[in-house]
Amino acid sequence: MKHAEKIKCLIIGAGPAGYTAAIYASRANLSPVLYEGIQPGGQLTTTTAIENFPGYPDGVDGTAMIEDFRKQAIKFGADSRSGIATDTDLSTNPFRVTIDGDMTLEADSLIIATGASAKYLGLPDEQKYAGMGVSACATCDGFFYRNKKVAVVGGGDTACEEALYLSTLASQVYLIVRKPFLRASNIMQEKVFSTPNIQVLLEYNTAGLFGEKGVEGAHLVKRLGTSGEEKVDIAIDGFFLAIGHTPNSGIFSKWLPTDENGYIITLNGSPRTKIPGVFAAGDVADPIYRQAITAAASGCKAALEAEKYLRK
Ligand code: NDP
Repeated sequence: MKHAEKIKCLIIGAGPAGYTAAIYASRANLSPVLYEGIQPGGQLTTTTAIENFPGYPDGVDGTAMIEDFRKQAIKFGADSRSGIATDTDLSTNPFRVTIDGDMTLEADSLIIATGASAKYLGLPDEQKYAGMGVSACATCDGFFYRNKKVAVVGGGDTACEEALYLSTLASQVYLIVRKPFLRASNIMQEKVFSTPNIQVLLEYNTAGLFGEKGVEGAHLVKRLGTSGEEKVDIAIDGFFLAIGHTPNSGIFSKWLPTDENGYIITLNGSPRTKIPGVFAAGDVADPIYRQAITAAASGCKAALEAEKYLRK
């Protein structure tokens, strides 16, 4: 059996939470090792310009921002490696983490910053128009659709929130809901239905998108019992997915409690988990805010907590 590498502070995930944790942990001499995971850079790399992160009055490209986070962490001594955590054993300290299925690490402290992934419908057009009208974050990208037409897919609270947010920017918002009703809370539904520039399209599914250089419209389909279907095209400039997020907590969920949607439950609003020495930061533990700035802040807190834990 191979000898396991020993690491003082292991960080899994390379989004704002992971890299901020790495910056703080390296400056505290914890010699952090960070594994970048399946999507290095996380969700920021799937968006275009980020205009709501303080310090960038002219906005910043998501991929460029993550690259800056990475450089800053490495500058202070963090070891950023490519590799995917595929298994964990958190039953004893040091915690054991398997990378790429065949290499085991032993970590005195562990910061889980594996993020969450927005769900997509699975249409080829979502890939085709990625960054050209398709988005899974209205807060990030809504601004680009001022006085334009957009559609939001989903019938939950997120979809309603995104539709309401977009209604303050866009001239017209379509909310595409696959069922004959919305799943969202009543209060959100009331707000949506009373907003003049939101039109709720119940029982519609999206069959595809069209457009020359970017999204110019969507093909919608409504099933009519067993008798057939009604096809409608809507003209839109932006297509927003709001059908939920999946927290990337799978390999930790046998050790750490999660909520009903899989988000890791942390203690008292801190990144501490029920296992001393294991911390969860960013979207993997945040079903509510899910912003780059809040993820970065919780990564900072996780590193400070890890430092305190290791000092003891
Ligand atoms: P939800 O799981 O609540 O809703 C997802 C929505 O997307 C549902 O309407 C679902 O339809 C629809 N959907 C899923 N897959 C597809 C698909 N393939 N095609 C079309 N539609 C699809 O996720 P949310 O992100 O909205 O919310 C997650 C949790 O966070 C909830 O508990 C919510 O209440 C909470 N939340 C609270 C907020 C607040 O209080 N302000 C704000 C945002 C979220 P269907 O109903 O048919 O399954």
